[in-house]
Amino acid sequence: MVRAYRPPDFQSALTIMRENRAIPLAGGTDLMVSRRRWSGLSPFFAKPVLFIGHLEEIKRVEIDITNIKIGSACSLASLLEHREIPEVLKIVISQMATPAIRNIGTLGGNICNASPAGDALPVLYAMDASVVLQRKAEIRTLPIEKFITGPGETVLKDDELLTSIIIPKKSYNVGFYRKVGTRQANSLSKLSFQGLARIEEGKISDIRISFGAVAMTVIRSREIEEILIEKSGKEIEKLIPEVSSLYSAVIKPIDDQRSNIRYRKTISLKLLRYFLRTVLISKIG
Ligand SMILES: Cc1cc2nc3c(=O)[nH]c(=O)nc-3n(C[C@H](O)[C@H](O)[C@H](O)COP(=O)(O)OP(=O)(O)OC[C@H]3O[C@@H](n4cnc5c(N)ncnc54)[C@H](O)[C@@H]3O)c2cc1C
Repeated sequence: MVRAYRPPDFQSALTIMRENRAIPLAGGTDLMVSRRRWSGLSPFFAKPVLFIGHLEEIKRVEIDITNIKIGSACSLASLLEHREIPEVLKIVISQMATPAIRNIGTLGGNICNASPAGDALPVLYAMDASVVLQRKAEIRTLPIEKFITGPGETVLKDDELLTSIIIPKKSYNVGFYRKVGTRQANSLSKLSFQGLARIEEGKISDIRISFGAVAMTVIRSREIEEILIEKSGKEIEKLIPEVSSLYSAVIKPIDDQRSNIRYRKTISLKLLRYFLRTVLISKIG
């Protein structure tokens, strides 16, 4: 039998975490799959389970002049419907799972699950998202790339909850996202690519590039992005071989049931070149 808690509010949830080191369950769409057992047996949880998906305090979206703050228990579907959620994030979410899973699965769950194939991660890395973590006596904020340390691994303490995700408000005039899966819908990613940029007066003033499912965690390199800053279309064209080879050195996929090293690497680099040449340069003109 599983001991389970359904606290009335967020503070009670933190108390339960401190006293029981429980497993937080938001939508349960990752947990119920990872803890499943043979047919006829209920999922196995070694520790008590703490339901958090109903807690209003972590289901809100708050906006101020500089940031968008998304409560960790906001369902993916609710974010698709929210007016203030950036379109680039909505494009990603709309390709995750199915409407039924999106109704219950949360953004916080996707982050804390820390799968290299977690689809919300590349765009969050690209947008410089941070995570706010809270336990009874402490609140801390970390950049998402410092939060996720490996496949399924984060720096979350065993009495801590992810409360919100902070995304700095920025405007991009170029965005390109591609998820490559076995089929169009309800398919986990073999790989994914996210490119965002701002073009001003014929040059790139801001660019962010990230790759999902082709390394232990999402790949984003500010050093490589820096090479493209302040460059015109002609200069970028010349830089494409150098930039491709720099990314090729950091893209380190694995072979698994969904895809293999060669396919993942080849297609990631093709998407990079497509983004730089076809999407970006054609927009600069
Ligand atoms: C059929 C199906 C299709 C799917 N398709 C996709 C897909 O296309 N792309 C994709 O990326 N994922 C997909 N998923 C995985 C899953 O739906 C998402 O990762 C979802 O966002 C997980 O959210 P959740 O609230 O259900 O997480 P849960 O299962 O509740 O939690 C996941 C993990 O995060 C922890 N956790 C959750 N919230 C918090 C919190 N606030 N603080 C601390 N820890 C927390 C939990 O303890 C657990 O370890 C799919 C799953 C299924 C079953």
